[in-house]
Amino acid sequence: MLSKKDLSEFKQILLQLRARIRGDVEQLTGEALGGGMETESKSPTHLAELGTEAYEQDFSLRVAENDQEVLKEISDALKRVEAGTYGQCEMCVEEGKPPSRSTIRKTRLRAIPHARNCVECERKREESVI
Ligand SMILES: [Zn+2]
Repeated sequence: MLSKKDLSEFKQILLQLRARIRGDVEQLTGEALGGGMETESKSPTHLAELGTEAYEQDFSLRVAENDQEVLKEISDALKRVEAGTYGQCEMCVEEGKPPSRSTIRKTRLRAIPHARNCVECERKREESVI
């Protein structure tokens, strides 16, 4: 189980991560959909570059979409912090393991603060998806 001190540390990490991603999402979405295009020259000599631009726009949007998923994971993780279940592997808990044996390692949480599963279960989950 994580101590109160650990919980508040990870809460801070989650809040900082969320703030950073939110900033990025707004910036990326703005760049992908927003201005700049109307000032571009539409002359035929630029046709070859248009493909690249479309690709980059698509890429930016996809990154933003991915960020939205991470943001949702982060807000779920913050809810778990409030509920006091943060840091417990969901799959281990489902299997009926006691909280003392379903704790996600802190090294993993530092790498992925919104992780839902311990390394072992994440591996199992990935294998079952493939
Ligand atoms: Zn687990």
